[in-house]
Amino acid sequence: MECVLLGSGGMMPMPGRALTSLAVRLQGRVYLFDAGEGCQVNLKKTKLGIKPLRVLAVSHLHADHCLGLPGLMMLRAQVPDAGPLTILGPPGIERFIRQVRESLDFFLDYPLTFIEWSEGHAELAYEDELVRILWGPLKHTTFCLGYRLEEHPRPGKFNPEAARALGVPPGPLWGKLQHGETVTLERGGSVSPGQVLGPPRPGRKICYGVDTRPNKTLYRLCGDVDLAFLDGMFLPEEQEEAETKGHMTAEDAARVAARAGARHAVLVHISPRYAEDDMGRFVDSAKSRFENAEIGRDLQQITLPHRPDD
Ligand SMILES: [Zn+2]
Ligand SMILES: [Zn+2]
Repeated sequence: MECVLLGSGGMMPMPGRALTSLAVRLQGRVYLFDAGEGCQVNLKKTKLGIKPLRVLAVSHLHADHCLGLPGLMMLRAQVPDAGPLTILGPPGIERFIRQVRESLDFFLDYPLTFIEWSEGHAELAYEDELVRILWGPLKHTTFCLGYRLEEHPRPGKFNPEAARALGVPPGPLWGKLQHGETVTLERGGSVSPGQVLGPPRPGRKICYGVDTRPNKTLYRLCGDVDLAFLDGMFLPEEQEEAETKGHMTAEDAARVAARAGARHAVLVHISPRYAEDDMGRFVDSAKSRFENAEIGRDLQQITLPHRPDD
């Protein structure tokens, strides 16, 4: 699993900092969280491509999180057989896209599905063969969603001694068992994966929570994740402004990550008022609350390995 931070800024795209957008790549599929103005520029600088994009999850209807959608959707229409695209988002996301399409009359040749959050919607927003995506309302100046992407659990650890004892010879049959298939032995009888595999191993988990104050949902979405991408828009001296505008300081964000049990945190949605010289202070203030916190950089790439077996 690979996370590519296409942008790490907030409010408006800046020459050195694009708007916050996170691409998660897993087995040739891309799940994208937020797409502000100019999102496709940095996407093109990566090797991700537009065709593998399966899900576009939007946090809220502020321009810096959704103005890039129409461009991305048009770009995707230029590749043959792009396949279906699912858009997750707050109430109004479908209307926003419909109105842009009506005005610009752009052509889409792939199936489009909208899943809008609504009162009483289950915590599970989306699921496919590889992952499930959970969501919940955060605390911002407008309705805003946080997301949690969870890879499905992997089969348990293979026990070669158990396989040998049951008469399964090393080779292709071991591979099948490891992939959860029951195998038939040459001498007769069969062996099921449950007989040779340990308990299922949890998949990797990521939280994406921007434009929010700390709230219960954010803690829940962030709980025990391998990696949390969190709004750390301001330095601590702007605490009051962060609270009024529905954002977090670097300290707030790092504290949430630490308390929720995230293993690693990347702070994003940095205010355009800060210059590169301020980043040292961001790092210091984040690390004062959580040692494994860092400040996101555009086009930063983080490969998430599976957790080591216990
Ligand atoms: Zn924003
Ligand atoms: Zn916002």
